[in-house]
Amino acid sequence: MIFLLFVLASFVNDVVCSLFSFKFLLMSFTLFRFCCSFRRSLFCTANIFFPFHFFPLFVVVSFTDDPIMFLDPWNKMEHEDSYQLVSEPKYECLLFDVDDTLYPLRSGISAQCTKNIIDYMVEKLGIDEAKVPEMCVSLYKEYGTTMAGLRAIGYDFDYDDYHSFVHGRLPYELLKTDHVLRNLLHSLPVRKVIFSNANEAHVAKVLSRLGLEDCFDDIICFETVNPTRDSSVAQDNINAESARTLVVCKPFEEAYEQAFKIANINPQKTLFFDDSVRNLQTAKLMGLHTVWVGASHKTKAIDYALESIHNMKEALPELWEDVKPDVRISEKTAIEVRV
Ligand SMILES: [Mg+2]
Repeated sequence: MIFLLFVLASFVNDVVCSLFSFKFLLMSFTLFRFCCSFRRSLFCTANIFFPFHFFPLFVVVSFTDDPIMFLDPWNKMEHEDSYQLVSEPKYECLLFDVDDTLYPLRSGISAQCTKNIIDYMVEKLGIDEAKVPEMCVSLYKEYGTTMAGLRAIGYDFDYDDYHSFVHGRLPYELLKTDHVLRNLLHSLPVRKVIFSNANEAHVAKVLSRLGLEDCFDDIICFETVNPTRDSSVAQDNINAESARTLVVCKPFEEAYEQAFKIANINPQKTLFFDDSVRNLQTAKLMGLHTVWVGASHKTKAIDYALESIHNMKEALPELWEDVKPDVRISEKTAIEVRV
């Protein structure tokens, strides 16, 4: 009877050991042990090494950093995405341009803005009307914005006066409440920040007209990255190097560096939405992930392309699956609650 009990106990022990380590590196070794031990149990009156059958399992579980991986590696690999998603979200922040990004180019706002800039250059700065269109384009290309270019080549004007003339007269009534975008932004479980070259009043007006004023956690705009810029800086003190940075703006690196610092943004964990390829190209160099809004194809330095900001969820469904770090949950134990 005792002999039979020992045989049975030894057999159960070996089966348990084999099952626990079956899926990992000890599989072959444990199977071998199981076969040998089973054979030995049949011919021995007592298996005095009974407790030591657990030793390999004890050693590996004790010294591994991830017992789940050891005990059930197949199941863990099957749900690898869930584990990574929970422990380390890809994005901590979403960064959005405003003009022609949160609303479409066809709204007519940008066209009117360009007209206002031309009028300002002619009426306020006395520039020859025939030269203004070409000058606008070249300054925009060289200095990031026409205003930054005008300042850099020596025109003296007040920034607030410029902004009130160019933006203050825009037909904001063309922008309507965007319920679709508002719902998308509110449903995103990620921090959202505005990053625009425009002045604060313009950004606030656009967000208000679109019904998005409560959708963002922070706003980085002209005043934010140019807090101490004095439009009355003596032109004599400006050299070629400093002219470019008289006004800090996209697409230049200084604007991104300041935005990261002010809003505490980790570029490697941030997705940047903008309609300007050059802004996105610098963004990519700075470590941001990039989304080209208003485009149907990707190009160099572009990670995603959206014809409309409304296509966010189709193109980037993972944004809605992201969860906060340091909260380990299991799909098996998640409970859906309808409210
Ligand atoms: Mg834009």
